[in-house]
Amino acid sequence: MYTKTIEMLEVSPRDGLQNEKRLVITEDKLALIDRAIAAGVRRIEVASFVNPNAVPQMADAEAVCQGLPNRDDTTYIGLVMNARGAERAIATGRIDQLGAVAVSTDAFATRNQRQTSDGSVEACKEVIALAKSAGLTAQATIAASFGCPFEGEVGQDRVVEMAQWIAEAGPVEIALADTIGVANPAHVSQLVAKIREAIAPLPVRAHFHNTRGTGLANVWAAIEAGASTIDASIGGLGGCPFAPGAAGNVATEDVTYMLERAGIHTGLSLASLIEANSWLSNVMQKPLPAMVGKAGGFPAPTDNTERTAA
Ligand code: ZN
Repeated sequence: MYTKTIEMLEVSPRDGLQNEKRLVITEDKLALIDRAIAAGVRRIEVASFVNPNAVPQMADAEAVCQGLPNRDDTTYIGLVMNARGAERAIATGRIDQLGAVAVSTDAFATRNQRQTSDGSVEACKEVIALAKSAGLTAQATIAASFGCPFEGEVGQDRVVEMAQWIAEAGPVEIALADTIGVANPAHVSQLVAKIREAIAPLPVRAHFHNTRGTGLANVWAAIEAGASTIDASIGGLGGCPFAPGAAGNVATEDVTYMLERAGIHTGLSLASLIEANSWLSNVMQKPLPAMVGKAGGFPAPTDNTERTAA
């Protein structure tokens, strides 16, 4: 048994929704954020500030920000790709932290944000600098850290080099993202350990998609290797544009179940997450990938009567 704490970062309002065809109205996004907070989430990626023509689901980013509950104990994150996105996020006055993104390969960086991998690191550093000058914090995610849909394998040395380069800009944390869901636990163990060593004392966050069923194993490996924060999405929502039909982010309720049963404290209420899954499933009008959302927790909580067979 473990006696440690892991921070859960809820990404459903952004990564969870952005690939969904069904446009979710602002009020439902805010209701999702409310449910995440009620379940104990204290760090949430609320929107991305990208071109609405490229990502129509995020066209209401400003409106979502204006509706966020006033809370001193919750960190609202806006994902941005460049200076223009950073300026939009800062202008809302409601974002606490900017999430910058660098991409590990030239082919993916070109497709995702029309720049080279090195160019994406420079953009990432610019976003971090803009956040700091506006009095916000910033963190960075290295996308496709474990594999690229266009170039294939991604060398660990390249990811380490990028992390060291980004760390110079002063983010509060660096995340490794398995954007297309190809990581395996051995790879995760190695790379998280190397990044920890490379950027210490900065903490490492981990972001996995369960595209090929390795999501939870990768979460476990990342924690064993010293990651302190795990990204997850209620219901396991969040498809990948490069893997049509694939499952999404690791599900918040599945990760919470696994960790809490192992004695690792998340601060989240499994019953509230399962209830949120049921609500979100109705909003999306489809069953969601999360396993614990379907099966329920164990042992069954005595206050579990509100569960329905949605
Ligand atoms: Zn993702």
